[in-house]
Amino acid sequence: MKKFPSIITFLLILLAIYWSFKSAMPSYESDIDLPETSFSTDRALQHVKNISQKPHAVGFPAHKEVRQYVVSELEKMGLETSIQEGYTGGDWANLTKAINIMARIKGSEKGKALLLLSHYDSSPHSSFGASDAGSGVATILEGVRAFLATNTTPKNDIIILITDAEELGLNGADLFVNKHPWAKEVGLTLNFEARGSGGPSYMLIETNGGNSKLIEEFTAANPKYPVANSLVYSIYKMLPNDTDLTVFREDGDIEGFNFAFIDDHYDYHTAQDTYERLDKKTLAHQGSYLMPLLNHFSATDLTNLKSDSDYIYFNVPFFGLVSYPFGWIWPMFALGVLLFIILLVYGFKKSVLDVKEILKGFLPLLASLIINGLIGYYSWSFLKWCYPQYQDILHGFTYNGHAYIAAFVLLSITICFWIYHKFKKVSTPNILVAPIFIWLLLCGGVALKLQGASFFIVPTMALLASFLVIINQKKPSPYLLVFLALPALWIHTPFIKMFPVGLGLKMMVATTLLTTLTFFLLLPIFGFYKKKNRLAVLSLLLFAGFMISAHFNSGFSEESAKPTSLLYVLDTDTNSAKWATYEKYLSDWTSQYLGDNKSVPENLSDNTISSKYSTGFTYVSDAPMKQIMPPTVEKTWDTIIGNNRLLEICITPNRNVNRLEVFTSNQIEKANVNNVPLSDEFLANRRRGKLVTHYITDNTPTELSLTIPKDAVLELTLYEASNDLLNNPLFTVPERPKDNIPMPFVLNDAVLITKTVKFE
Ligand SMILES: [Zn+2]
Repeated sequence: MKKFPSIITFLLILLAIYWSFKSAMPSYESDIDLPETSFSTDRALQHVKNISQKPHAVGFPAHKEVRQYVVSELEKMGLETSIQEGYTGGDWANLTKAINIMARIKGSEKGKALLLLSHYDSSPHSSFGASDAGSGVATILEGVRAFLATNTTPKNDIIILITDAEELGLNGADLFVNKHPWAKEVGLTLNFEARGSGGPSYMLIETNGGNSKLIEEFTAANPKYPVANSLVYSIYKMLPNDTDLTVFREDGDIEGFNFAFIDDHYDYHTAQDTYERLDKKTLAHQGSYLMPLLNHFSATDLTNLKSDSDYIYFNVPFFGLVSYPFGWIWPMFALGVLLFIILLVYGFKKSVLDVKEILKGFLPLLASLIINGLIGYYSWSFLKWCYPQYQDILHGFTYNGHAYIAAFVLLSITICFWIYHKFKKVSTPNILVAPIFIWLLLCGGVALKLQGASFFIVPTMALLASFLVIINQKKPSPYLLVFLALPALWIHTPFIKMFPVGLGLKMMVATTLLTTLTFFLLLPIFGFYKKKNRLAVLSLLLFAGFMISAHFNSGFSEESAKPTSLLYVLDTDTNSAKWATYEKYLSDWTSQYLGDNKSVPENLSDNTISSKYSTGFTYVSDAPMKQIMPPTVEKTWDTIIGNNRLLEICITPNRNVNRLEVFTSNQIEKANVNNVPLSDEFLANRRRGKLVTHYITDNTPTELSLTIPKDAVLELTLYEASNDLLNNPLFTVPERPKDNIPMPFVLNDAVLITKTVKFE
């Protein structure tokens, strides 16, 4: 094959990859002048800006300001708002008082209502909540405004619910679904969320049953940029998740669509979740979902969205969301196997195929899979070894993470080209048998274990088609082969990026393996390339380029700040105080307190205050004693009933506090906290002795009502925290440098008092 246009086909492949990313989401252009009846990203951005002025977690002063802002914006549209307020504890005994905001647009018919959902609280204590979930609130405010401007009366009622305390324990959703009369009238929920500050917004279904009706209706609503697939849906269903919609599904059996973006994960729950860092395209993407869905579902019967059957679905350029029933999985797989056998027979008959050559074709395939698998598997450990500062980015996605993804994709391609160059004597038809075999094997595997991924059969079918072309013709059209490679490029390349973006750089192995597997699907084209070694060198150079660029961006700056953490821990039992941190790689700022005298804690870390990643303190050092008032603990009731002892204990803060955690190793039969019963399931499976976390507003006391065995002596350990270390007059901690941010997911900037109390 002399004149195979390698360069042109290679460029076409790059163009197809570019297009699969480019076409997934809208572009942003200033649209403030759009008519009132349209969704304007600029107008929504104004809401984001107003909401994200200050951190506004539950218990913080700006929390109330944001609530008042949302209420007044809804009222400006002529809507009547109402407030729902109450304590809930959720499944994990994260107790707080949530204050939900609601409004309702009356429909013309008496069907089920459509509910638009997002939350207005930000994550404690430093997040500005621009993306999470200011973007969601803004999308709904602007979308509802545009809808009302059209003066159409919807068939269904539209309920707007902006929940509170999502970040603490989904408390607002819990309160609404379990306590509000409107919850019974809801037929479908659209939830807008964020877990980063950019990238496409993924549609995720929440249902207790099958997804087929929901997919049919979603497709009928026809959003312009659907990004969704049943593989993510299957994985999502296997993981324990925690969005407000989970409560709607579990407690209310209400179906819903989640719209959430996950890229630039390093901004999530940090002081970098700001207006400036929210990708405008991403917000436009949220709007591009809401408007068609609002129009469709406000006019569609929502009483009948449940089904028993599931669909496979995925999005591709030009076709939007493609879906087909689960029932097709095995027939399609069987068809693939059958075609493969027929083509093998045909190939042998034509003397194009040869057993020995086919077997040789398995060597480069296995070698590249093994080498790239190992590279991917050890890459994150290796990077953390080279750059120990990455250990403090608890998200697991570094600021230069995208450069690493690009680098490891290129390194995988280098390995593939290099290995396949070594086997250039094996003819393309013979070399193709191994990839088809491995892909069919994979399709069989997912049909058994991960059915949502069964659309992998589509690129595999296209590979079989290329195989037919290549057996048939010695000089096939290169453009036909590129055309047949489109399913592989459009379906797989988004996943190559998505896995580490979504699950952290520790998932790089998914990237290197998927790159390798996609390379196999392109072998009908690459097989004809004479100079594979040159492409190996080219991609190796590009790999080096990305690694060098990542190296120069491996440090910290104002734009990519180091997460740092500092706490003052006062133990009132031993009358001693310590500085403590969760940092593994100490910053200069933290070293002021934990520099020379630091030690690895002994007792502090075992029973330490709970944190999202269960990270214990890494270092502590002695600190001066400060006059900080511990909470007052009063026993208000103590009696024996039958075989049980009933105790009522009131814990009242004596300073401005944000949260109180209570631990006990006692067996607890029943517990009520501020009149909220903790579930039996939680009490039976308490982790590390935690009884309750109370996120305190307005220094409200914590009232415990506990039932324990009759003769037991109750011992409680209290951890009372305030996030005021940096502005507490008792301390003179200097401000964080601009290239530091408070470490997210752990208690931070806190004055923490520990106290043990015994009730004989
Ligand atoms: Zn959120």
